Amino acid sequence: MNSANTIKSNSKIKRGGKIILILVLAVLLFVAAIRLPAVFTEGTKEVAFGPKLLYRTAHKSYEDVFKGDLILVNNSHAYNFDLGEKKYTVESKKNEYYRVKNDELSLNKITIRQFNALFKDFFKRTGLDNVTIISAYRDYEYQERLLDERISSSGYSAAIRWVAQPGYSEHHTGLAADIAVSDAEGNTSTFTGEDDYALIGENAWKYGFIRRYPENKTEITGINNEPWHYRYVGKPHAYILSHYDLCLEEYIEYIKQFTYPNSYLRVNIRGDVYQIYYVPASPEGKTAVSVPAFGSYDISGNNSDGFIVTVKR
Ligand SMILES: [Zn+2]
Repeated sequence: MNSANTIKSNSKIKRGGKIILILVLAVLLFVAAIRLPAVFTEGTKEVAFGPKLLYRTAHKSYEDVFKGDLILVNNSHAYNFDLGEKKYTVESKKNEYYRVKNDELSLNKITIRQFNALFKDFFKRTGLDNVTIISAYRDYEYQERLLDERISSSGYSAAIRWVAQPGYSEHHTGLAADIAVSDAEGNTSTFTGEDDYALIGENAWKYGFIRRYPENKTEITGINNEPWHYRYVGKPHAYILSHYDLCLEEYIEYIKQFTYPNSYLRVNIRGDVYQIYYVPASPEGKTAVSVPAFGSYDISGNNSDGFIVTVKR
C-alpha cells in the first residue's frame, strides 16, 4: 500500500469513527432524556388519587392490624404474640458478610434477607465483615428476665429507659436486632456507628432499616439513644423516616392524613416511585381496603387502629 492510499484509508477510518462517536452520543443523549427526570426527581409530595376504577377492594380482618412490617411496638403498644408469626434462625439464612452471636438468634425472613444485603454492601465498601448480631427476637419470658436483671443492677427508673416492659419490646416483632463489632478473638464491643461504621447508619434506609431510638427522639420513643438497635420497616418508609427526621411514633401519626379516596403520599427515590396511604380499621369485622387493581402492593397493620398501604409504581 503506497502512502497516498494509506492517508486515504486513514481518513476513511477517522470519518467512520466520527460517525460511530456521533451515533453513540445521540443514543446516550436519548437515553439520558428519558432517564433524567426519573434519576433526579427525589422526595415526597401529597397527590390526589386517580380514577376509582383503577382501584379494587381487599378485605383485612381485625387481627391483621397487629401484623406487618410497620407495626409500632412501644411502651404503650404491646406486641400480639397470639399471631404466632414464624421466625428463622439468622445462622440458617445469613450470608458471609457479618456474624451472629449464637445459633439460636432468630428474626423474620425479610429482616435477615435485608441484613444480608445491607452488610454485603458495607463489606464491599469497607472490607469489614465483623458486624455481629447480638440480640434479635425475644419472647415474653426473655424480656422479663432482661428487665429483672437490669432493675437489680441499675434500679427501676434507669432500667426502664433501656429495657422495655415484657410484651412491649420491639424485639418481640422479629423485625429488630442489636448489632455490635467483633474483634479477632470474637469479643464484641458496643456499636457506636462511628468512623467506618457510620456507613451502616447512612445506608440503612436503602435496605429498609431505621435507627429506631435516635438521640433527638428519646422523649417520644421513651428509650435512650441506641445506635446499635436497627428496625426493618421497608425502603420507602425508611427513606422518609431518615430524610425527614421522624421517629416511628411520629411517622405512624403523620401518615394518617393520607387516606383513600382523598390523597396519598407519593415518594420518589431516584426513580423508584411509591404510593403510601392509610386506611382506618373497622372496629368490628373486616375492613375494606382500597388497593390498586393492577400491580404490586403491601398492606401492613400499624398495631393499633389501621392499615398502611404501600404501592410500588
Ligand atoms: Zn435492641
